[in-house]
Amino acid sequence: MLSFWEINTFGRYDVAIVGSGITGLSLACSLKEKNQNLKIVILERGTFPTGASTKNAGFACFGSACEILSDIKLMGEEQALALVEKRVKGLQMLRARLGDDKLGYLAQGGGELLFKNENVEADQIAYLNKLLYNIHQQEVFKVDNSKIDTYGFNKNILSGFINNSCEGQIDTGLAMHNLWQYTLSLGVDILNGADVQDIYDNNDEINIAVNLQPNNSYILKASKVAVCTNAFTGMFFPDLDIAPGRGQILVTKPIPDLKFKGIFHFDDGYFYFRDYYNRVIFGGGRNIDFEKETTTDIAINEDIQQRLSYYLKELILPHESFEIDHRWAGIMAFGKDKTPIIKQVDKNIYAACRLNGMGIAIGSLIGEELAGMMLE
Ligand SMILES: Cc1cc2nc3c(=O)[nH]c(=O)nc-3n(C[C@H](O)[C@H](O)[C@H](O)COP(=O)(O)OP(=O)(O)OC[C@H]3O[C@@H](n4cnc5c(N)ncnc54)[C@H](O)[C@@H]3O)c2cc1C
Repeated sequence: MLSFWEINTFGRYDVAIVGSGITGLSLACSLKEKNQNLKIVILERGTFPTGASTKNAGFACFGSACEILSDIKLMGEEQALALVEKRVKGLQMLRARLGDDKLGYLAQGGGELLFKNENVEADQIAYLNKLLYNIHQQEVFKVDNSKIDTYGFNKNILSGFINNSCEGQIDTGLAMHNLWQYTLSLGVDILNGADVQDIYDNNDEINIAVNLQPNNSYILKASKVAVCTNAFTGMFFPDLDIAPGRGQILVTKPIPDLKFKGIFHFDDGYFYFRDYYNRVIFGGGRNIDFEKETTTDIAINEDIQQRLSYYLKELILPHESFEIDHRWAGIMAFGKDKTPIIKQVDKNIYAACRLNGMGIAIGSLIGEELAGMMLE
């Protein structure tokens, strides 16, 4: 049972945001930065944000060469380039908002590993560099097969390496902690253990039915509501084209003299790995088992985790002994195309979701775009 004081203080807001991942937090920040008088609450059912934002690999990336080439095939040059631009702008925004120290941002570059059966022609690299020049003002991709030896990867399996000098990485936990702190510092309320069950319009006021831990429920009222629940948005708007996509990931114990630093991709971006203080964080492999991984159940897929272990030993660290410290999974959101959804769903009801495995890069910009739409 709630007290009069609880209802009086936490019962009515100008804006309620559902979900405290990077999208919900960024939206709250953008709204407050534009109008500090707004009374804003974020309703989060988890103790932490419990989807993708605290479970990802921390790549501050905009797409590998093969991934961008495949996007161009899928959606055409203009749209693929617009998506790259969004990722770059989103990252710039996140870095400007918090500062690199608070993100643990490191600009160490990285690259893409090509298997023996993969081939990227020199003119394709030149084409991509020309396309991306306006965004980065420098050549992004360079074939440099010598890195395979330098980084200690297995040269018997690989045919090439495409260096990318423009990508970076963040410390996901640190970044989310600081984004959370920054959001609070702007005067936003964040209610954890607040599971939103229903959202409906009641005489031009939005009612939000919330279950509170341990066993309370109440109707919170707001002038506007934004649903930023990414893969979990289907329960509110079943007509939106959103499918969950689980991602598997692991981290090794520290490896003395680890030979590489930076972020790396292979298999069109389906697998990705990076260094973190001499550890290796390695994830991906959804393409091995799309069916099982189309779920919101945050659980380990043994087959995919085994494949990660195999590649770690055979491809990434063939000359090192290592131990796996921890394995986990998180949930992303995908759709028929790779663009995020930012839209007004109904009068005073909005959604920003389907971040397509690129939320670190685009989350801030999506929050900013939705804030603009909500304040129009
Ligand atoms: C394994 C993995 C690796 C990834 N690696 C990268 C990477 O390296 N680089 C990159 O850019 N992106 C990466 N991503 C993707 C990125 O993490 C996501 O795109 C981004 O975090 C999505 O943010 P979000 O705020 O939209 O969603 P989420 O972080 O999923 O947040 C949604 C929130 O809504 C809450 N919620 C859901 N339903 C309700 C409800 N009914 N009531 C209240 N709260 C609710 C959830 O608890 C959750 O906290 C990765 C994702 C995963 C899973």
